[in-house]
Amino acid sequence: MLTFVPNLTLRVMLTLLFSLLALSVTPVGDGLTATERSLERQGMVCVTDVDSTIRVSLMYSRADNFTGRVLYSDLNRAYLHPEAARALKRAQAILRRRRPDLSLAVYDAARPMSVQQTMWDAVKNTPKYFYVSNPARGGGLHNYGLAVDVTLCDAASGDTLDMGTPIDHMGAAAHIDREAALQAGGTLSAEAVRNRRLLRSVMREAGFKALRTEWWHFNFKSRAEAKARYRVIR
Ligand SMILES: [Zn+2]
Repeated sequence: MLTFVPNLTLRVMLTLLFSLLALSVTPVGDGLTATERSLERQGMVCVTDVDSTIRVSLMYSRADNFTGRVLYSDLNRAYLHPEAARALKRAQAILRRRRPDLSLAVYDAARPMSVQQTMWDAVKNTPKYFYVSNPARGGGLHNYGLAVDVTLCDAASGDTLDMGTPIDHMGAAAHIDREAALQAGGTLSAEAVRNRRLLRSVMREAGFKALRTEWWHFNFKSRAEAKARYRVIR
């Protein structure tokens, strides 16, 4: 009995010690892909960890985007710089106050520079190059986790609302400064214009800036601010 008690104590202590050792060698963010882990190491946060009510449907993890191919082979979660993620959470709260039946749906967020290069290579000798930031010039705000491609969807079903064009549509119908004329000409429905205005309104109120040529794209910082104070994602 006298020897049993210390042995038991020793065994408990050893078990505890091994548990602690096992914990310390378990990789941070276990269950994540290599790209997701890399984004976390570079300070990005997962949008749905910040707000689990925000829907995510990354268009570059599928082939039905403007490049016609899968660009994210191992990225299924949307990442943003923490400041932009907090602002997106604010936008979702503003939207839910106005329209509890709706939710934001993220189609793209932080984009590693390696993916930006692949995207650039896919468009550089085509008219589509206009829509893609050149990696040689430092890329764009997606490469800092400071831009997000987002639309509105039904909160329950996830079905996206009519915004007049699909996300990533390249052409005048996606421009936000011609909506009145596009509606008058029958290219955009009144409902699509209303939905776009609602999206812009909640995103602006949360601190994002709209882009003239893409109704779905919102910047959280200017390119000059990003270059001065933030780091590009590798
Ligand atoms: Zn974008």
